[in-house]
Amino acid sequence: MLVDSFGRVATDLRVSLTDRCNLRCTYCMPPEGLDWLPKPDLLTAEEIIRLVRLGVERLGITEVRFTGGEPLLRRELPEIVAAAAALRPRPQISLTTNGIGLARLAGVLAEAGLDRVNVSLDTLDREVFVRLAHRDRLRDVLDGLAAADEAGLTPVKVNAVLMRGINESEAVPLLRHCLDRGYELRFIEQMPLDAQHGWRRENMVTADEIIGLLKDSFDLTEDDPAARGSAPAELFLVDGGPARVGVIGSVTRPFCGTCDRVRLTADGQIRNCLFAREESDLRTAMRSGASDDDLAARWIAAVARKKAGHGIDDPGFLQPARPMSAIGG
Ligand code: SAM
Repeated sequence: MLVDSFGRVATDLRVSLTDRCNLRCTYCMPPEGLDWLPKPDLLTAEEIIRLVRLGVERLGITEVRFTGGEPLLRRELPEIVAAAAALRPRPQISLTTNGIGLARLAGVLAEAGLDRVNVSLDTLDREVFVRLAHRDRLRDVLDGLAAADEAGLTPVKVNAVLMRGINESEAVPLLRHCLDRGYELRFIEQMPLDAQHGWRRENMVTADEIIGLLKDSFDLTEDDPAARGSAPAELFLVDGGPARVGVIGSVTRPFCGTCDRVRLTADGQIRNCLFAREESDLRTAMRSGASDDDLAARWIAAVARKKAGHGIDDPGFLQPARPMSAIGG
């Protein structure tokens, strides 16, 4: 098992399939994009499948979430999902995506064994979408969401990041949109993970503010906290339920004490936290002929070093060198 020195057990593996993205969300990367990882540095589909198999069959991973960058840009995605779905014990398999291309791929992915999706949607206004993501693709995202629902990739979850002065006025319309369609919305506090290092605490729309904005229009009651487990979202019943909305207060309400996540970057590094400044290189080991036993031992040792918390509030906090797109969100 993947246990750290505080007794937390990592069972949820986030696998980044690429650092590339077809949007340029301002909280993530600059409009001109980034220097993407060179192709030879990326894990091949076979290497990804090998590490996922190791995680599931030998190290107690029960949930696999594919992410990026934009995971739908990875052509072998259906084959990677199918390989994960063939593992025993079968893990829960989900995908975090911006939804562009999902209208075409949702059925294929469901057939390959994908269980559900999280789709990012920060605004319902086309102009705001262009201002925020620097691409005119709102229609594709909405079509992708509908296709995911149609294909049974449910519950369809929606991730939204609010930015002061840009889309904070959309908290209520976004929730209405999701409630009307049976999607589960989660607001995520903006974290200091943008490549431009432009994050400022005072510009972050906090969990308290988000809840306040929603309470002006909805009756929110805290859902049973026991049901939250290690999930990052605090859940609220909307207007008595059963519909719910989540708020992920990564910065102001950290949940590191119950964290069960471990990350594999697109270039084969194990990371214990989005904010980690250390990584463990499984790619070089794998390409130098490491056995499964050796890779498992390296992975176990990496997780054992997991820190108690992300430390954003520590005076010495330094933003990680890699942005969110390169870590895998
Ligand atoms: N491209 C996919 C997508 O858009 O969902 C997957 C990768 S993206 C990095 C994963 C999630 O991270 C998205 O919901 C995105 O909104 C969120 N995200 C990116 N940068 C963030 C930041 N600085 N703070 C909070 N959430 C962020």
